Amino acid sequence: MLRQGKSVSRISQKVDQIKSSATIVVSMKAMELKAAGKDIVSLGAGEPDFDTPDHICEAAIAAIRAGQTRYTQVDGTPELKAAIVRKLKQENGLTFKPEQIIVSNGAKQSLYNLMVALLNRDDEVIVPAPYWVSYPDMVKLADGQPAILAASAENDFKITARELQNSVNENTRMLILNSPSNPTGKVYSEQEYRELGDVLQEHPKVIIACDDIYEHIYWGDGPYRTFLNACPGLAKRTLLINGVSKAYAMTGWRIGYLAGPADLVAAMRKVQGQSTSCPSSVSQAAAAAALSGPQDCVETMRQAFRQRYDYVHAALNAIPGVVCPECEGAFYAFPSFQDFIDRMDDIRDDVELAAWLLEKAGVSTVPGSAFGAPGHLRISYAAGMEHLQEAIGRIRKAIETT
Ligand code: PMP
Ligand code: GLU
Repeated sequence: MLRQGKSVSRISQKVDQIKSSATIVVSMKAMELKAAGKDIVSLGAGEPDFDTPDHICEAAIAAIRAGQTRYTQVDGTPELKAAIVRKLKQENGLTFKPEQIIVSNGAKQSLYNLMVALLNRDDEVIVPAPYWVSYPDMVKLADGQPAILAASAENDFKITARELQNSVNENTRMLILNSPSNPTGKVYSEQEYRELGDVLQEHPKVIIACDDIYEHIYWGDGPYRTFLNACPGLAKRTLLINGVSKAYAMTGWRIGYLAGPADLVAAMRKVQGQSTSCPSSVSQAAAAAALSGPQDCVETMRQAFRQRYDYVHAALNAIPGVVCPECEGAFYAFPSFQDFIDRMDDIRDDVELAAWLLEKAGVSTVPGSAFGAPGHLRISYAAGMEHLQEAIGRIRKAIETT
């Protein structure tokens, strides 16, 4: 019998060892403070501030009216999978068959399925840092070991072939690549991918998971290139992860997908069939309309992000003690505040700095430590220009008057 006061809700060691998603915690905190009447400008959330384009919403409404309200195929409707196959051909020049595609509840679930389908206890996954907050904890939830590989600011926060070579060992099972990167906004060139590919050729056990979710929010030189464009010879062990959340302002619809070898996709289908059954039928109809319909909305949003980047980059660099590197995509700036932190007695690190800015300036950001890069803050510019001006003005004032 339970003694009084003892909790029945003992959680598993697996869950006990992971953190809550810092990006989500920060976004929720900002929402709570706003709801309580506090004057908060949120630069924490990593989601487009635009509404989902009308023609996509209309497709969802039409799907509801047409009775598309039942379970679908576990791995996605034939219509959406065909639209994804077409997208990969037309935009990326890559050929996939429908059985090589799985649609999930967001790219996040595609990634999670992958970890569960692939990893055994103690398998290592190389996660280059700075990394998106969820990668290491997803690996742990799947019983694997994240092997964090720090990329230096001097090399634009990108790992080099030599660094990769030095970190692969006999337990390495996967490498995660994310370009444009959340949180740095940095992009791997085709040549850089090729150099990493040369190393990976020598390590046939390593699967490459390439998270391309920010593909369309890109303004670097030349066309966007994914890993498979640079290293087609590694197609048998490369998985592309993508989705409609960022490019089409569809975060709440929860549709992402993965393209890769059919046997791995089949294993993921098993995981998905036993966990969420299938993605939402209505959202899948909307996603098919997004991928197959007019693409000018994507370009309009891309240009808006680019303009905001120009402003944010210059405005942050104008603040004493702040150094903001250049970015080529996504909608995050990842400035270092280390000089400012070093000057302050009562702010010891980026976590305390983020708390201080929330308190003193009413601006929410995400501490760099959550991404494996202390001393930085992640500033999302998926917010209107007037919000950005207000927020950066407040940060500047807080710092200059301290
Ligand atoms: N990868 C990265 C790098 C992201 O920033 C996000 C955003 N949450 C995702 C994957 C997942 O996106 P979603 O689940 O909304 O498709
Ligand atoms: N990817 C976004 C971010 O990093 C959304 C939140 C999340 O899923 O982490 O803020």
